[in-house]
Amino acid sequence: MSGSTDQITHQDRVWSVADHLDDILSKVHPLEPIDLQLPEAQGCVLVEDIAVPAALPPFDNSSMDGYAVRIADVADATDTYPAVLTVVGDIAAGSGAAPAVRPGEAARIMTGAPLPPGAEAVVPVEWTDGGTGAGPAAGMLAHSAAPQAAGGEVRVYRPVAARQHVRARGSDVQAGELALRAGTVLGPAQIGLLAAIGRGTVTVRPRPRVVVLSTGSELVQPAEPLGPGQIHDSNSFMLTAAAREAGAIAYRVGAVADDALSLRATLEDQLIRADLLVTSGGVSVGAYDVVKETLADLSAEDGTVSFRKLAMQPGKPQGFGLIGPDRTPLLALPGNPVSSYVSFELFVRPAIRALMGLPDVHRHTTRAVCADAVTGSPEGKRQFLRGFHDRDTGEVTPVGGAGSHLIKALAHANALIVIPEDTTEVAAGAEVDVVLLG
Ligand code: AMP
Ligand code: MG
Repeated sequence: MSGSTDQITHQDRVWSVADHLDDILSKVHPLEPIDLQLPEAQGCVLVEDIAVPAALPPFDNSSMDGYAVRIADVADATDTYPAVLTVVGDIAAGSGAAPAVRPGEAARIMTGAPLPPGAEAVVPVEWTDGGTGAGPAAGMLAHSAAPQAAGGEVRVYRPVAARQHVRARGSDVQAGELALRAGTVLGPAQIGLLAAIGRGTVTVRPRPRVVVLSTGSELVQPAEPLGPGQIHDSNSFMLTAAAREAGAIAYRVGAVADDALSLRATLEDQLIRADLLVTSGGVSVGAYDVVKETLADLSAEDGTVSFRKLAMQPGKPQGFGLIGPDRTPLLALPGNPVSSYVSFELFVRPAIRALMGLPDVHRHTTRAVCADAVTGSPEGKRQFLRGFHDRDTGEVTPVGGAGSHLIKALAHANALIVIPEDTTEVAAGAEVDVVLLG
């Protein structure tokens, strides 16, 4: 047990949402960087500056399917008097050795194929007869023909400027330039760039491993029949999904009964694979509030978890601390499904994103016109109502009531409507702050 004065202080003080979050964020630090293969690095924060080892594109290449030519040879070409060139070869993307193009010659070339020596530009196939001798319209059809068709002659009906339809070596990025800066979040396009410059692995902050466990002797796994007084465990599924969506590698542990010994044993087992632990249930003042009982009791070496009353609704009882040899952060959320989800959004999601080293740990917020009146919001508490926010109209409509068991309403909401501590009612048509969920 920690000092009794400390306990009393914690119990008596009512924490604001902001103070509780600040306390969490002051103790949760970004994870140590590791090297990850590109596919695993998606969504992670880069911790190294990445320089470009070699120019992109690495060689001059064609941006069109067509014919590589010398510009003087086609300078006077018209529909009536086409330039007639000897086709000396066929250059596909990936071809290594390309034939030289000498005066009076052309090489059939595909998009991405290297520009052959001697050639100065590419005439798109649409400007030629495609080597068929059948006139301008034949070009497109003929070009898909097999390589052996790339012989004989091609008629070119228009002149081409020097370097036209040629993507120059280094026109995307030059060797030695900075590709990506440390601190960049690796989205699809950044991963594409890394692959393009030949990087297979990168040094990033890893995704945190988040272990989610629910507590409650009434809980039964979905798909199993309910006995008297039992309900299905929804929180562990919901919170695991939320953790994954926030960027974590999430592990769901099945529900633990309201029994201090089993909870303690489970937590000890799970610590080994956790960068963050999330529990649901058992944090209020009831006789079987086993999370509080178990964690408030930890020895100094095992860590300290403080249980608090927050000036918020839903989600008044919250626990937070660092436990085990590695001082792993643990957030103990209340058990009511809506309370646990709102608590996740407000506290766990930012903690996960702080572990990832993301520059912005918060959801987007906006102002919206509240379509319906809100009454009876508790004085002195920040209330988070579920709402449906319509981006097009800028309106938000409360979904369901304030009850923290209303999981169906939660599933039809895409926003949290924030009713400040000092506000007890909101008139229909008034503006409110809204947290956008996703
Ligand atoms: P507790 O915080 O443990 O007192 O639980 C508060 C309420 O939430 C009770 O009605 C519980 O049955 C319910 N509850 C707790 N945990 C879960 C869960 N994992 N899934 C669904 N409901 C839960
Ligand atoms: Mg319970």
